[in-house]
Amino acid sequence: MKRLIRILTILRVMTMGFCALAEESTDMQDMTNGKTTESGTPNTEDAFRISEITDEIFERIQGKSFKDDCTLPREDLRYLHVLHVDLQGETHEGEMIVNYHIAEDVLDILRQLYEANYPIERIRLVDEYGADDELSMEDNNSSAFNFRFISHTTRVSKHGLGLAVDINTLYNPYTKTVDGERIVEPITGEPYLDREADFPYKIDHEDLCFRLFTEHGFEWGGDWEDRKDYQHFEIPNALIEEWYPSNK
Ligand SMILES: [Zn+2]
Repeated sequence: MKRLIRILTILRVMTMGFCALAEESTDMQDMTNGKTTESGTPNTEDAFRISEITDEIFERIQGKSFKDDCTLPREDLRYLHVLHVDLQGETHEGEMIVNYHIAEDVLDILRQLYEANYPIERIRLVDEYGADDELSMEDNNSSAFNFRFISHTTRVSKHGLGLAVDINTLYNPYTKTVDGERIVEPITGEPYLDREADFPYKIDHEDLCFRLFTEHGFEWGGDWEDRKDYQHFEIPNALIEEWYPSNK
């Protein structure tokens, strides 16, 4: 009996050592590549966090999504660090910048999607694509803030305010018909305009992503009549007019 206890104790010490090693290697991995946590169970509480736009983050977005003519104060933006699961079930780290008004909501939505194993392929800053929406969408990247004015106006767009979020963009394209000509963004998203077809990452009314965003007060671009934006969730105009009354 004593011998058995000794063996069990040795085993326990060995296991503890092994766990400590495993933890150390996960930390190392986080620090070195900052992208993918391939092994170990990530600490969800620490992984889902909100911070202000530090100098280090600002350097990454300045002149890109935070354009030189950006009228939105840097203080109105928040950086989110999250986890997400891809179609293969692999966990990845993600980064997103949104307006402070919706930071908690978006963090909560992304946490719930992660916990439900809802597949999201990539959540990277659009700055990694030179703030080029088309490149980001062709890569099926999910993102939010990218400063711009609405064409031919002095009004900042909802993405420009960080108050709109796009999810799994390649499989949920934007489309509009102008003078009989169909526009699709990204252009490579054309095969996914058939919303009756079955394919991965598709957002529809049965979708968890749709349910969570709308529960948090967002509107879905897939419900619009004059155009469709299946990837897009945004804060309604009435709230934005309240938060940014001078944005006219
Ligand atoms: Zn959008």
